[in-house]
Amino acid sequence: MIRADLHIHTTSSPDASIPPKTIVNQLHAHPHIKAIAITDHNTTEGYHKAQKLASPYEDILIIPGIEITTTEGDIIILGTTELPPKPWTPKNVINFSKQKNSLTIAAHPYRAYGLGDQAKNYNFDAIETLNGISTPHANKMAENLAKTMNLPGVAGSDAHRVDEMWTVYTEIQASSNINEILKALKKGLVRVAYARKSIHF
Ligand SMILES: [Zn+2]
Repeated sequence: MIRADLHIHTTSSPDASIPPKTIVNQLHAHPHIKAIAITDHNTTEGYHKAQKLASPYEDILIIPGIEITTTEGDIIILGTTELPPKPWTPKNVINFSKQKNSLTIAAHPYRAYGLGDQAKNYNFDAIETLNGISTPHANKMAENLAKTMNLPGVAGSDAHRVDEMWTVYTEIQASSNINEILKALKKGLVRVAYARKSIHF
């Protein structure tokens, strides 16, 4: 089993301030969370920087990701470093992801820039049911959406600042291997959890 924060932004997102080096150092130091997905807005630059910095450490895993600003709301792709072709409609983004054997997640569906009920129209692999900066009510609605769509729920802090990292995480029944993690996510071998504020939880 591996614990992963599947939604983190770096300085490569225009609205975020977390240096990739800080993520890597703190992930290495973290007692339980050993994997993260870097999901910057519409770029994989931050992922590449973090991946390079993480390569000397055997205990941590950086999952390639991207949060695409689609015409209807934010969609996270995990498992590819390529950008989908424009126009970024949900349909194009999801089709692209399927071609790449990647995974698509409806990010914070009931917050600003979320797809809301529109998510039901698309073939997602998972729903972000626990987002670290969404309200409990919005997360509850996302959980209900996942149940309705019969899809797994995943968690990500959506950290834009250092103190927002890994407030929530996803427990995945997989080892520290990206393909295994993606397969387990698709199968729903996951559980979402809140972390305590302190690193010593
Ligand atoms: Zn985000």
